[in-house]
Amino acid sequence: MGVAAAPPFLIEQTVQDSSTRIRYNRATKNLGSRLMKKNYFAVTYEVCEHNNIYLDMNEYNIDSTKDLDKQIRELAKVDVAPLVKVYESDTSDFKDFRLYKEYNFKEYECGCDGTQF
Ligand SMILES: [Zn+2]
Repeated sequence: MGVAAAPPFLIEQTVQDSSTRIRYNRATKNLGSRLMKKNYFAVTYEVCEHNNIYLDMNEYNIDSTKDLDKQIRELAKVDVAPLVKVYESDTSDFKDFRLYKEYNFKEYECGCDGTQF
């Protein structure tokens, strides 16, 4: 499974500084009304169990016509996020939404207890 050749995304990507983990503006403007089908968005989280950190970083619009796993993997990489949650909604305004899937990425865990190295 190669992640090298990433498909083109309809996602607004922001420049990532993984050393400082800047909180960007949330990309909520992407969540506007659009189509009358299942709608998805993803939220990236920064998690550190040792320091009780559980921060939502960014929200991303998900293109349901494209491979979900690939899009999530790319988002996790961009945000260096150990946890990405995907929510689904029946309506394009996301008035009601529910958790659809959770992705964990061990490679992006903080590892600050030293056992990851
Ligand atoms: Zn930690």
